[in-house]
Amino acid sequence: MRLDKFLANMGFGSRKEVKKLLKSGTVRVNETVAKDAKLHIEVNSDVVLVNGDEVEYKQFIYLMMNKPQGVISATEDKRDETVVDLLQLEDLHFEPFPVGRLDKDTEGFVLLTNNGKLAHELLSPKKHVPKTYFARIQGEVTNDDIIKFKNGVTLDDGYETKPAELVIKSSGPVSEIELTITEGKFHQVKRMFLAVDKKVIYLKRLSIGPLILDPTLELGEYRELTDEEVDLLV
Ligand code: URA
Repeated sequence: MRLDKFLANMGFGSRKEVKKLLKSGTVRVNETVAKDAKLHIEVNSDVVLVNGDEVEYKQFIYLMMNKPQGVISATEDKRDETVVDLLQLEDLHFEPFPVGRLDKDTEGFVLLTNNGKLAHELLSPKKHVPKTYFARIQGEVTNDDIIKFKNGVTLDDGYETKPAELVIKSSGPVSEIELTITEGKFHQVKRMFLAVDKKVIYLKRLSIGPLILDPTLELGEYRELTDEEVDLLV
């Protein structure tokens, strides 16, 4: 990889800013001052120092976002803002994309990465990665619903859902629940409640596999996963 691309990718500014940095003589490659933007470096073996600090090459980025309502979980959309639009520009050299979809009116945990292999694995129906949602439901959710969801319900297209765990947080004219499902059919949570004659009026994803949405993230905010969180995923 060219040295200027490496430095730009690692957050040292635009190619133009990186050129300036190189001119200043503060970049060293394997002990030697490097001023040539075109210098080829081996990302895994050459040692790059900026102001004496080693710059480690990171191939993948993993972001946890708290998606607000009204935002589409896609990379681009003609009409609406997308989760990728919410990212600061300097992150975009990695070109992260959302892993799976949340509906426009669903809030909560969206994972974004440029690691296609990991995304594929998390989405694979064979992997049964559990996802937990919090929802407000119009109508009284009952123990009967817990049993129905455990045994599987039939969606409007005839699909039989896999066992899902329903936890009732409060029950009344509007109930609050948490539901864990291991598949990702279109509008699945909403359609599961429709199958028991109830309507989801608010939906938020709380977790994906072993990762729990950071409660300090406000709607629209995101942060990188910690190394420990990435290790739980890969
Ligand atoms: N189930 C839904 O109905 N909507 C979502 O956004 C996610 C799961």
